[in-house]
Amino acid sequence: MPQPLSRMRWPGMLALGTAGVVTACHEEIELDGLDVVPEFSQPICGGTLDKMQQRLDWLVQVTGVPRADRPIRFYWTPHDSGGGCGEGSTCVDRRGRVYSTLELFSHELVHAHLHRYEEIRPWLNEGLAFMLEDNAWPAPATLLSPSELLAVERPEDLDYLAAGSFVRFLREEYGMERLMRLYALSEDTTYAQARAVFEAALGNTFEEVSARYAELQPTAPVGSPDCDYPMMVRDGDGWRRRFRADCDDPDSIGPYFGLTPGLAPYLEAAAVFEVENAGTYEVEARGANIRLSVVSCDLSRGQGTSGTDVAVTLFLEAGRHRVTVDADIDPPQDVDVVVQPQAAGRAAL
Ligand SMILES: [Zn+2]
Repeated sequence: MPQPLSRMRWPGMLALGTAGVVTACHEEIELDGLDVVPEFSQPICGGTLDKMQQRLDWLVQVTGVPRADRPIRFYWTPHDSGGGCGEGSTCVDRRGRVYSTLELFSHELVHAHLHRYEEIRPWLNEGLAFMLEDNAWPAPATLLSPSELLAVERPEDLDYLAAGSFVRFLREEYGMERLMRLYALSEDTTYAQARAVFEAALGNTFEEVSARYAELQPTAPVGSPDCDYPMMVRDGDGWRRRFRADCDDPDSIGPYFGLTPGLAPYLEAAAVFEVENAGTYEVEARGANIRLSVVSCDLSRGQGTSGTDVAVTLFLEAGRHRVTVDADIDPPQDVDVVVQPQAAGRAAL
């Protein structure tokens, strides 16, 4: 699977530590509509639980689907180790319980929130989760036709990016309300029934929708990056912010443990800035052994790098963009991030 624009796996940060038995010693944490059960003993970073709550509240709002009667139960596993899902994967089980790492939480939360709809075909189930997760995925290398996507019976046979791309197209053409109507009508459908419900939900037949998709061939990235973060401080033509990469800080999110054992636990901190004039910008972060990523909230761009004192240069459209810094939890450090427009003439010098 390709790496998302905003969460590329970072190299070069092997842990010294142990990946042995981690005993759960947190109590269950009750949020509003979400019960969190951490399956590790490390402290939870300052901003994490608020972010989980916000993500659920956002999902309720964006899908128009109210909260379930019972809270979602989230078993927060350190690694992608299976938990209640069987071998080597995260999941939502038959009772709607989530077993997931923090890395994959926003994706699995979509499945858990929509668990009341049963037997949704993989293209729609996974395509919608891809579109609504806190990530930015590149456009698929190959667009599949809606007929090919609808025919897929098992998630392991699905091209997730192609499914996400089609679901994004449906949202843009018909709006979220009709897309969710399609979702509700697609419960437990055969291939023929799945085609037939398009007209009732969207007002166009499956053939009409497919023809429009073939005509437009959309190649936009897919995802819903969370841009509800503090604003960077304006500084001349650019912006700056000091990130406190400390798990106690109220803006830090973590711990992340990596999908497989071997990384030192790390945290994330993010901020946003608003560009008035499209152009080339350099984003520089000063800190030890960090990962820096920049993603446009409209999904138009994404880039990342890792190391000590790093920078990325990228073209940004006007609008809002998110800077994310990942750093080892131990030891805490300050990471200074500066965004500067590149001087127009500099390339010619
Ligand atoms: Zn999924």
